[in-house]
Amino acid sequence: MELDKTLKVVNVTIQNALNTIDLHCEGYRPFQLILYTLITTLVILKSWFFLFKKDEPLAKRSKKFVFRWIRRMPIVGNMIKKEVGKVKDHISAEKLFKLKPGMRYLRQLPREGYSDSKIIHEVDEYLSMDHKWDNGSVSGAIYNGSPELTNIVGQVCSKFTWTNPLHPDVFPGLRKMEAEVARMVCDMFHGDPLESSGTVTSGGTESILLAVKAYRDWALDNGIEHPEIVCPVSAHAAFEKAAHYFKVKIVQVPLDTKTWKVDINKMKKAITKNTCMIMGSAPQFPHGIIDPIKDIAALGLKYGIPVHVDACLGGFLIAFMEEAGFPLEPFDFRVPGVTSISADSHKYGYAPKGTSCILYSSPKWRTYQYFVSPDWQGGMYATPTLSGSRTGTVISGCWAVMVKFGRIGYVDCTRKVIKTARYITKELSMLENIFIFGEPKVCVVAMGSLDFDIFRLSSAMTELGWNLNSVQFPSAIHLCCTMLHTKPGVADRFVKDVKQSVQNIMMNPKKKNTGASAMYGMAQTIPDRSLVSELTGAYLDAMYDTSDYRNNGDSHRNGHI
Ligand SMILES: *Cc1c(COP(=O)(O)O)cnc(C)c1O
Repeated sequence: MELDKTLKVVNVTIQNALNTIDLHCEGYRPFQLILYTLITTLVILKSWFFLFKKDEPLAKRSKKFVFRWIRRMPIVGNMIKKEVGKVKDHISAEKLFKLKPGMRYLRQLPREGYSDSKIIHEVDEYLSMDHKWDNGSVSGAIYNGSPELTNIVGQVCSKFTWTNPLHPDVFPGLRKMEAEVARMVCDMFHGDPLESSGTVTSGGTESILLAVKAYRDWALDNGIEHPEIVCPVSAHAAFEKAAHYFKVKIVQVPLDTKTWKVDINKMKKAITKNTCMIMGSAPQFPHGIIDPIKDIAALGLKYGIPVHVDACLGGFLIAFMEEAGFPLEPFDFRVPGVTSISADSHKYGYAPKGTSCILYSSPKWRTYQYFVSPDWQGGMYATPTLSGSRTGTVISGCWAVMVKFGRIGYVDCTRKVIKTARYITKELSMLENIFIFGEPKVCVVAMGSLDFDIFRLSSAMTELGWNLNSVQFPSAIHLCCTMLHTKPGVADRFVKDVKQSVQNIMMNPKKKNTGASAMYGMAQTIPDRSLVSELTGAYLDAMYDTSDYRNNGDSHRNGHI
């Protein structure tokens, strides 16, 4: 009886509603009704996509929109354009990459080829332009560089000059080397001897691009239409690059500002049904801090999401730290939930630049990394990584370096690097007016200050011949300790120079930074990030600038500008 009554009420309500709608539609012609419905649907869909379905958060897009609008305004827009132009004039090869007196750019093929002796002479001239690094003055960049290593790498690489892993039938020896490098690195990270697998790539960025591509394709294959990756804000820019290239959304998770590890609760909240990868770094680049890999992996397990560990920077250290007497919490395939690891052999593996490994816990993931074109006219085509043809040179160099060091060699180097980094951390944390970010356990030591603009310290250190890294949001500078910093006296010289520079700065702590890194500090304060992007683009332009005519009074405008 009750049900009957209810149904009746519902029926009447529906009838009333329909009548009301009919009443509203009266006076419209059917085509108008169709048109209005169509337009309304489109507007709703469009707004829906604008609000929720874009790769960038709404706030960020709104900000961009406002700034774009400002830059298009007649007077203000022109003023900005003029100012940007002025700054751009300072971002030129002429100002940033000065040639030695008398040096010229080659802008055309030399008509007649050089003799071998001239080539060697020229090459030495080019090399003589480099920042002096063998005294340990540069943060990161060159991780070993010993003449002994240079010698053997040079010998091996020259033997492999013409090899290409794209043709394993022609170069089966190289194929064996590459497979062995990937296997040995899998083993370093306790990958299952049969299940784990990997590929050698051209560098950390490519390893990361490939992991993101693999997980995206896995997600697409499993019905996730708009895949997202969840990364700590401290994750390497390569993750943002991967998101950009492969059209996945990147969700950035803030750090705990005491430990500078990712805030695991916020990471948990950032996970959605679209998440196709979460990750942590071991350690991250800005402050050298290891994210809580165990907790991140547990989230991955709980929600069935693959977990990447970015060990690009420190992979070849952390894998040996326990044996070197510096145990860490587990960070590798021993942690349930970790499905991939990137580790750069061209950093603490001391291999020549252009080699890294991307490793997976199971071959299933690696398959998603591949590109296959079974129908190409040029033949069935398949590549494991981003490139087509690749150089075998650096792969052979990497293999040679790895077997030269062996486990004992790497453990030895690791002990030296970690000892040095910990010594520097200890000494610097005793200084007043600066602080160390978190508790760095590996190779990077990041400094900040509450009393003065930390980039002034960077400028002061530049004056003393050092080349440190600038970190932003928040401002910091860091030293990435390499084997070059383990040489006698280098760490002490660094600490002494920091101490002296801080003392000098504290004589006038509020003074504005006018040194080399001033621009770095300023760029952070520009709210319109598209301006910063534009100026950064100008820097890239300058890298390819060959217009030296102004330096040398050459009146021929040979080329652009
Ligand atoms: C260096 C680095 C990478 C990759 O950089 P490449 O320059 O492409 O080798 C990725 N993650 C971290 C933490 C790094 O330090």
